[in-house]
Amino acid sequence: MLSKRVKEMLGARVKYPFAREYGARVVGAINLSSNESPFGPSPQVIRAVRREAKRVGSYPDPRAAELKREIAGYVGVSAACVVLGNGSDELVDLVCKAVLDPGDEVLVPLPTFSMYEISCMVNNGVPKFVKLRNFEWRADELVNGMAGAKLAFIARPNNPTGNGISAAGLQRLLATGKQIVVDEAYAEFAGYSVARQAARSKNLVVLRTFSKAFGLAGLRIGYAIANREFVQALEQIRAPFNVNRLAQVAAAAALKDRRYLRRVVVAVQKERAYLRGELSKLGMRVLPSDANFLMADVTPLGTKAPELCEFSARKKIFIRDLSDFRGAGAEWVRVTVGTPQQNRRFVLALKKFKRRD
Ligand code: PMP
Repeated sequence: MLSKRVKEMLGARVKYPFAREYGARVVGAINLSSNESPFGPSPQVIRAVRREAKRVGSYPDPRAAELKREIAGYVGVSAACVVLGNGSDELVDLVCKAVLDPGDEVLVPLPTFSMYEISCMVNNGVPKFVKLRNFEWRADELVNGMAGAKLAFIARPNNPTGNGISAAGLQRLLATGKQIVVDEAYAEFAGYSVARQAARSKNLVVLRTFSKAFGLAGLRIGYAIANREFVQALEQIRAPFNVNRLAQVAAAAALKDRRYLRRVVVAVQKERAYLRGELSKLGMRVLPSDANFLMADVTPLGTKAPELCEFSARKKIFIRDLSDFRGAGAEWVRVTVGTPQQNRRFVLALKKFKRRD
């Protein structure tokens, strides 16, 4: 017997838009559709996971004391302001659980990461969508949108647009006094963050993840930074062993190898500029991005996103068709920045598409 709201969600087809290649192991394929790091984790992480493998018979540390210490040092806050999740996905859900009463409204700018809408609905909230006109962040419109809402999800930089609300705009949202979640999944690539402010703020929660710059998407680990009281509330409602032993050890090792992180970030930033330049040369409109992906309009290639993605997939390169992304549309694709070699292969495929050969 399903609840009324889950039946509603099934009826409205509210679901995570999985990239098509999940589970498909195509030899020689390049996945530029999931915003992972093309470089994977540091070799030190692999060694740490190997060492820890023999202990998987025991439960992980439910307090994750060592990892929280490392994160606290990395971010520059107290460990009491850190809570871990099974990916930042889980933290999106936990924040909704902690904050929402049935019928509460949640501001969701569009287009954005789909888990905000899903978690909001699963937790009896009502999403209140505000379209980002021309994919730009207008603080006035968002502040107006906050009237009547209890919570807002602001990805900064945003997925899939790659841009983010300005620092001043964000402070205006915070001044509404409503609960504001700033999702910084891509912060390492952007070089800006409000994570430290979250520790001393009444209403700011910052989400971070090890899935992107640290290359640990498969281990599922993220964290939230907030004031101590809010962190305690999330600690209270999470499952006791939500972050597994291998993930804890891997994340701690990843934080210790800052040199590797810096190299990944510099390489991604350089390749992002290369890819943006090449796509622009082909006539595509590419939004400026602070993250490790680009959102591009395929219209100048005389096509729609599904057709281009299909062509690219036949060349074993998977990119993201944004037709089914609420607030994007069939003109748009999202391309993750890959390794230099992967990006060149993709650009070559695009040139072939343009010539139709
Ligand atoms: N936030 C944003 C903005 C994302 O794009 C993603 C991943 N697609 C996530 C959160 C989820 O990350 P995680 O792997 O930590 O659950």
